[in-house]
Amino acid sequence: GTGLELRELRKTYRSRGRPSVDAVRGIDLNLRSGELLGLLGPSGCGKSTTLRMIAGLESVTGGDILVGGASVVERPAQQRNIGVAFENYALYPPLSVAENLAFGLKARRKAARGDVDRKVKEIAERVGLTDLLDARPAALSSGQKQRVSLARALIREPDVLLLDEPLSHLDAAQRDTTRRELKRIQKDLGHTTILVTHDQEEALSLADRIAVMKDGVIQQLGTPYEIYDSP
Ligand code: ADP
Ligand code: ADP
Repeated sequence: GTGLELRELRKTYRSRGRPSVDAVRGIDLNLRSGELLGLLGPSGCGKSTTLRMIAGLESVTGGDILVGGASVVERPAQQRNIGVAFENYALYPPLSVAENLAFGLKARRKAARGDVDRKVKEIAERVGLTDLLDARPAALSSGQKQRVSLARALIREPDVLLLDEPLSHLDAAQRDTTRRELKRIQKDLGHTTILVTHDQEEALSLADRIAVMKDGVIQQLGTPYEIYDSP
């Protein structure tokens, strides 16, 4: 496993003819290896911007991001070994679910065909996609797409896992199962994880610690017990 550290991380969006937006205004965080941090806060407080900077999908205005003690801010996304399941992380329409999953794996290493197939089956089983491996993304419900997206992030065996509302499109029963599965996977494989959620139950049951963001800063940081029991 590998820890994740954010030092004075900042993001200002500037666009011509519009006032600049200080979306993230100095975040310090230290996640130990295998820790799962729940990231909460109102819409627009800077959660997605923070995840996108860690993933390398958004440039950093200031500060540093360290994975396993090494700065990654200069590295392109593909070289960060960070698994991402975001709402808008589109699946490739012409590819089947199995091919979508295999793609992420092949892009990273020259894996043998048999290894890729085995890995795809294994991860599909873990997130309940076995019956859908031959389906095209267009035929899937949004909850099913969400599980493919989660599987695609996991299959790369990343050091760090970033999940943005990963269960939001699932119905109550699926959410229960997937949440339990996610917890097991995370414990088994030891990913250092940040999970953005609005769901208090999700945060309580999954997170080792919770960070509450507001206006681009972390306002509260503690165990679920500390956060939800504080007045
Ligand atoms: P959250 O994920 O908590 O809803 P975001 O990180 O999406 O918050 O947004 C934080 C702030 O940055 C908001 O004020 C939002 O309007 C602004 N913002 C997000 N993305 C962009 C962008 N690409 N260009 C300009 N402003 C942005
Ligand atoms: P390329 O170098 O062609 O961009 P990538 O391997 O970076 O190839 O990305 C291929 C696709 O895999 C992306 O379009 C995206 O959908 C998905 N992807 C990229 N990075 C990640 C990641 N860290 N976690 C999960 N999926 C990813």
